[in-house]
Amino acid sequence: MLHQTGANPDVKTQGQRLQWVPSVACLLLHLHLKTALVLRAIPSTRDKQRDIPMTIQRRRFLRAGAAGGVAAGALAFPMIATAQQKFNWKMTSAYPKGSPFYMAGPGSATDLAKMISDMSDGRLNIQVYGSGELIPAFEGFDAVRAGTVEMNHANSYFWTGKTFAAQYFTAVPFGMNFQGMNGWFYDGGGIDLWNEVYAPFGMVAFPCGNTGVQMTGWFRKEIKTVADLKGLKMRIPGLAGKVYASLGVDVKVLPGGEIFPALERGVIDAAEFVGPFQDRRMGLQKAAKFYYTTGWHEPATVSELLINKAAWEKLPKDLQAIVRTASAACNVISEGWCQKNNSEAMDDLVKNQKVLARPLPDGVIKALRAETKKILDEAIAKDPMTKKVHDSYFAFKRKYDAWTRVSEVQYHNKVNV
Ligand code: CA
Repeated sequence: MLHQTGANPDVKTQGQRLQWVPSVACLLLHLHLKTALVLRAIPSTRDKQRDIPMTIQRRRFLRAGAAGGVAAGALAFPMIATAQQKFNWKMTSAYPKGSPFYMAGPGSATDLAKMISDMSDGRLNIQVYGSGELIPAFEGFDAVRAGTVEMNHANSYFWTGKTFAAQYFTAVPFGMNFQGMNGWFYDGGGIDLWNEVYAPFGMVAFPCGNTGVQMTGWFRKEIKTVADLKGLKMRIPGLAGKVYASLGVDVKVLPGGEIFPALERGVIDAAEFVGPFQDRRMGLQKAAKFYYTTGWHEPATVSELLINKAAWEKLPKDLQAIVRTASAACNVISEGWCQKNNSEAMDDLVKNQKVLARPLPDGVIKALRAETKKILDEAIAKDPMTKKVHDSYFAFKRKYDAWTRVSEVQYHNKVNV
């Protein structure tokens, strides 16, 4: 879609760029009506044989055209009625109202809803709610499943308690980056598997955002070896938290708003959140000076658009296509937003705020990698669906890595230096 529209020299703005779906639908409807008119109006073979003068044939053509127009209109009416049916949906989020990237700005939940409304000419209107406005932050899965809301905007790894396989659709430690994830999602069967995992819950999902590579996080003391992790109190959620815990870290799961005060007061010694822009906004650089960059735990964190399947199936095909297309657009646009804002924020943190940004020591990365493998091996042994997703993900990753080693890696290491 983006390739097609990108090739259009007349395209100037994002709004204009995304108008093609309704335009194509209108064009098809127009052609349908025209075809009905023309078919009704074609003079019969007998008329031709009698060699009736053209003027009379033209009159008949016009009369038939008028009658055909009514008939075509009557035939097309149900289609028009369906096409104009309006849907008013609710979308909740795991993030507070106004959160950059998640709830505000290009590619966010509110941008996605606006895009869908614009593309459908108001036929699918989505009211967006931040966490706590309609339901608490992490109740989106249950709310969409029950049909209380039609959509939820969050990350699938919040639902690993419901189904562990959901982890793979957000980020896998030592897994694929943004490009690799997109290859798996769109051309490697990733989205199909995501929907297979959610089928028993009566839901469908699409990728609708990506933070790109995240940062290891903020540490009050320098980390030189694995031994330095032992006993460290760290805020880190999810699978990465389990990995740290197996290396002796005292893992704390705190909501975003509690990270800064806890780190500043020394209640915790380290904290992971997202990346330079969002971390700086929380003021984490004022609570800890060591900023470890190696994004081993979340190489590219995917935002999830979760949809109630029964509601989804009630949407006409063109609105489904609009939702899919807008989600894919936000997936790319939000990642672009992160590239811009993180590069500026990191520059500011290092130059102006005396932050010590550095990669984790190799020995620490090695230990984290070994523990990650152990935990994933345990997970796939327990659950066949997790194994199916894991095998698909890593089969794709192997191919992607081989290609990347001769393409992206060469570019970054040899050319872009
Ligand atoms: Ca994170």
